[in-house]
Amino acid sequence: MTGTAHAGAVLTIDLAAIQQNYELLRDMAPGAECAALVKANAYGTGADRVGPALWDAGCRIYFTATLDEAIAFRGFVGPDARIFVLNGVFENEAEEFSAHDLAPVLNDLGQILFWSQRARTLERPLPTAIHFDTGMSRLGLPSDEAQRLADDPSSMDGLSVSYLMSHLIASEVPDDPVNGQQLARFNSLRATLPSFPASIANSSGIFLGADFHLDLVRPGVALYGANPQPSSANPMAEVIQLKAKILQVRLVDSPQTVGYGATHRVSGPTRIATIPVGYADGYPRSLSGRGYCYVGGIQVPVVGRVSMDLITLDVTAVPSDQVFPGAEVVVMGGEISLDALADAGGTIAYELLTALSGRYRREYIFDAGRT
Ligand SMILES: *Cc1c(COP(=O)(O)O)cnc(C)c1O
Repeated sequence: MTGTAHAGAVLTIDLAAIQQNYELLRDMAPGAECAALVKANAYGTGADRVGPALWDAGCRIYFTATLDEAIAFRGFVGPDARIFVLNGVFENEAEEFSAHDLAPVLNDLGQILFWSQRARTLERPLPTAIHFDTGMSRLGLPSDEAQRLADDPSSMDGLSVSYLMSHLIASEVPDDPVNGQQLARFNSLRATLPSFPASIANSSGIFLGADFHLDLVRPGVALYGANPQPSSANPMAEVIQLKAKILQVRLVDSPQTVGYGATHRVSGPTRIATIPVGYADGYPRSLSGRGYCYVGGIQVPVVGRVSMDLITLDVTAVPSDQVFPGAEVVVMGGEISLDALADAGGTIAYELLTALSGRYRREYIFDAGRT
């Protein structure tokens, strides 16, 4: 047996790599501040550990999706961090925003009026960002509401507007004309409003050039090692590695099948290794018959269906002295990039990251530059 004595799968998260990624993205946008998106438990990597690491790297601005994420995150980074909540604010949440010094991203005119009224009642400016929809049709002021805000900027009285922001819909495709169109829409909208700092770029948006950097960039997924430019080599340092140990090895032969539903039929003498990673751990069921791992430096396919707690690998190609209960299997990281694995399963690295199981043994390291 090698490695730790633990029998389950071990997820290693490299905090120094996250710091290095933060520094790379920040340095790409020298005129702008660089925030960190830490929603969904810092994209599955553990906000409690990632928050302090980002703080040490100099990050002072954070975005969560939900209020509860933001309240927890306040505890991870202390009182001086600026924390924005993307999902906005409902009236019954206002006290909690104040108690934890959180800033809502205001997504419609009603929220702006409510937050401005509250600022005037409390007689102190309330921090916020205002989000404009320039093509997502998801969150943010639609154009008619943006027009009404421009017609009556006093709706923002009492607000301390840190940023006007918008969100790109196709920034990972650098030559998609929609990127430039959204930027132009956002910039012309800003011209109708009082002057505030502005932000539009997510991870991939940073790579679209200086016009997109504005005053603040908002990377998420690239901090955690995914490739922000799928058509080029990944410039980001690898953050996560997932390794498991073989639980059992068996020899099967035709006409046997492997797994639920008998979707995989062996055609001759085959060695199957079973490892403790399944869809309950966030290994997508769509990787059934499509995923792959590495054993002893050799790529081996996932055969049969991904089940809740287990996957089965065809390890026939691996020398038999390397395939035994307790032998190490690389499931993610190294030769297996998040982006390529996600692609094999018809999903994206974001989903693989945010689905990472709480069941994995987590080991945090500071070791950027390991290979
Ligand atoms: C998630 C999110 C980001 C970060 O996007 P990435 O593609 O992960 O870099 C930025 N802005 C908003 C509004 C988001 O919701």
